[in-house]
Amino acid sequence: MTVITRFAPSPTGTLHVGNIRTALHNWMFARGQDGRFLLRVDDTDGERSEERFVEAIRADLAWLGLVPDGEERQSARFDRYEARFAELKAAGRVYPAYESAQELDLKRKVLLGRGLPPVYDRAALALADADKAKFEAEGIRPHWRFRLDHDAMIEWDDLVRGPQRFDPKTMSDPVVRRADGSWLYLLPSVIDDVDMAVSHVVRGEDHVSNTATQLQMFAALGAAAPRFAHEALLTGAEGKLSKRLGSLGIAHFRELGIEPQALIALLARLGTSDPVEPLVDVAPLVASFDFARFGRAPARFDEEELAQLNARIVHQLGFDAVRDRLPAGMGPAGWEAIRPNLSTVAEAADWWQVVEGPVAATIPEEDRAFLALAAGIAEGIDWSDPWPELTGALKAATGRKGRALFLPLRLALTGREHGPDMAALLPLIGKENALARLGSA
Ligand code: GLU
Repeated sequence: MTVITRFAPSPTGTLHVGNIRTALHNWMFARGQDGRFLLRVDDTDGERSEERFVEAIRADLAWLGLVPDGEERQSARFDRYEARFAELKAAGRVYPAYESAQELDLKRKVLLGRGLPPVYDRAALALADADKAKFEAEGIRPHWRFRLDHDAMIEWDDLVRGPQRFDPKTMSDPVVRRADGSWLYLLPSVIDDVDMAVSHVVRGEDHVSNTATQLQMFAALGAAAPRFAHEALLTGAEGKLSKRLGSLGIAHFRELGIEPQALIALLARLGTSDPVEPLVDVAPLVASFDFARFGRAPARFDEEELAQLNARIVHQLGFDAVRDRLPAGMGPAGWEAIRPNLSTVAEAADWWQVVEGPVAATIPEEDRAFLALAAGIAEGIDWSDPWPELTGALKAATGRKGRALFLPLRLALTGREHGPDMAALLPLIGKENALARLGSA
C-alpha cells in the first residue's frame, strides 16, 4: 500500500501553529513511509475562501520546506461531488430536510431543556412526497442530510487514540449540503479521500466525531476507509486552549527571527514521548516519527521554548544557509565567530557593526595604562593568531590574569563586556582597527 496523506486547510485565513503542526505531521509521516503528501485546498465555501490565502498557505509550506507532491482544489471538483451525491440520493443515503435554522434551534433547546442530547429527530425522513411538494411549492428549498445507518456500530482503531466506538443512534444525521446547493466540508472530504486514495487522515482531535459520520460515508460510497490519527490539540504556555495560538502564524515567527528548522524541531516532537531536540536536519525527526509516541493529553506550545530552541539551531547553521541574510562583507569566518552569540540570524548585523566599528567604550581610569601597553604590544606581534599572542605578552608584562586581563581588552576592542570569543573576533577586527581602538582607549 502506498501511503498518501493530505493536508486540507480551508483558505479562509493564514495557517496558525496548530495547522502548521498538522501539515508537518502529514508531511513527516508520508516522507517516512516513502509515500505522497498532498495539499488539498478546502475551498468549497466560495464566500469565505480567498485566493490570497491559498497563496499564503503555499508560501508558508514552502518556507517550512514541506513541499506537496500534488495539489488538489475542492472548488474544481463540484461535478464530481454532484455525481456521487446523486448516487447517495438514489440509494436513499441522503435526504432533503426543510426545517429552518430557527426551527432546528428550537428543537435542540427543547431536547436540552428535557436533559436529552440534542440529536436531530429525523422528522424530514418521515415526510411524504406530498409534504415535500408542498414545501417546494412554497419556494422552500431543502438542505440535505446524510442518513446514518443506525444498525451499524461505528468503530475504528485510531493511530493515536486507540479503539474508538460511536453509536450512530446517538448522533444527528449530518447536514452535507445547504439549501443553496453549496457543500459542507464532510462529504466532499470523503469523496476526495476516496478519489485521491488517501491512506491516512491525520488531523486534530476536534474532528473525531466528524470521523464517526465520515466512516459511514466511506461505506455508503462503497469505499474502504483510510486509517485515522487524531492528535491532541495544542494549548498555550499557560496550559489552556488559547486564542493567541490561533493567531500565531509564519509571519509572526519570521518577524521574531525563528528559523523553519526550529519550528519543525519543536512541532515534530511536541506532544510525543520523544524529547524536543535542536535538530537542524529533518531526517532524524522523520525517522523517529511514530503515531504510537503521541500522548492523549494536550501539548503545550511555549514561545519561550521555541525561542531557546531557535538559538540552538542558529548556532549550528552553516554560512551557506544564512549568507543572504548577513550584512555585506561578513564572510564564513565572521559568521562562525559570531554565531554562538546569536538568538536570531538578524542579530548578526549588530555584531558585525562591532567588528567594523566604530565602537565606543568607557574605560575605567585604572585600565588606561594597561591598554596603552596593549596597543604597543599589538603593534609588534604576529597577527596570524593575535589574541593568544597579545594576552600572553600582556600577562607576562603586567602579571594580570583572568577578568582583569581580558575584560579591559574586550571593552576597548568591542565596546561591550560580553560577546563572541575574542580569539575569533580579533582577527576580524584586524590590526589597524584594533590598534586604533586600543590606542584611543
Ligand atoms: N478543511 C478541514 C479543516 O481545516 C479539513 C479537515 C480534514 O483534515 O479532513 O478542518
